[in-house]
Amino acid sequence: MAKPGRCLSHIKSEGYTMSATNSREVATTVQLLHWTGTLLPAYSAARICYSKVGFDGIKPLESEAAMGEWLRDRVLKRGHWGILEHIHFTFGVSGISRACSHQLVRHRIASYAQQSQRYVDKADFKYITPPSVAENPEALQFYRELMDELGEKYEKLQGILRTANPEANNEKINEDARFIIPNACETQIVVTINGRQLTEISCKRLCSRAQWEIRAMFEQIRTITQATVPVVFDNLGPDCAWGKCKEGGCGRAAMYPKAKGW
Ligand SMILES: Cc1cc2nc3c(=O)[nH]c(=O)nc-3n(C[C@H](O)[C@H](O)[C@H](O)COP(=O)(O)OP(=O)(O)OC[C@H]3O[C@@H](n4cnc5c(N)ncnc54)[C@H](O)[C@@H]3O)c2cc1C
Repeated sequence: MAKPGRCLSHIKSEGYTMSATNSREVATTVQLLHWTGTLLPAYSAARICYSKVGFDGIKPLESEAAMGEWLRDRVLKRGHWGILEHIHFTFGVSGISRACSHQLVRHRIASYAQQSQRYVDKADFKYITPPSVAENPEALQFYRELMDELGEKYEKLQGILRTANPEANNEKINEDARFIIPNACETQIVVTINGRQLTEISCKRLCSRAQWEIRAMFEQIRTITQATVPVVFDNLGPDCAWGKCKEGGCGRAAMYPKAKGW
């Protein structure tokens, strides 16, 4: 299994560090579970577009770096991003809120598997604390008390439903008790995504207009992807880093010095 990325680089870059947490507060961790392992499928796909010789005549270049540079200079710079659809990544994401995962799954060209709130009991659910709450002692105390209370109320509701329907199995009880679980509740999700879609989603989710949590998640994805496949994925960044900002300019392009087109 690949090394987990834990950089939270964006959050740190804005001066936010998670305050002392209680045992139920968690932070986002992205792990690379698997990737295609080589640029060869993308390289072969690109070569066959321009080759007379057929697959037997297409030989891999001497290294992954050489294939990456060839792809960048001969294909991607010309806007032929479809070639990146032949490279896949599978990420395991934990420590994100349901609010964040709901935004993620709106990107339909990816495959997802998410922890169930029917099969997994949520009485002691873990949760994500927004920076604005963590930095404000009054808000933090209120928030933590509310999370504790919701956990207790969830268990209480499970008990009431079980008494009313002793035949019901746990899934049946949980599927209705979960209605009082907040958006803050932690979830875990596996995402399989191709390289083109990853590049396109990054344009949106690394933008300052994106919500802080999904942006922090994509910062981790960016760090992992660039370390795993340099050159080709050096360019992950928001739209403004590609020179096509529609949001009026926020200065974030400077954070992505490599993302200036392929
Ligand atoms: C900053 C920000 C704020 C947002 N705010 C809101 C909000 O307030 N409310 C809300 O509901 N959503 C909101 N969204 C979500 C947004 O509307 C999209 O659903 C989300 O960004 C996924 O879009 P996508 O193009 O990446 O993915 P997809 O919608 O999965 O599309 C992927 C690609 O396939 C193409 N495609 C897919 N389906 C179709 C189709 N049926 N017809 C034509 N082309 C298609 C698209 O052109 C796109 O290139 C927000 C997103 C961002 C980044």
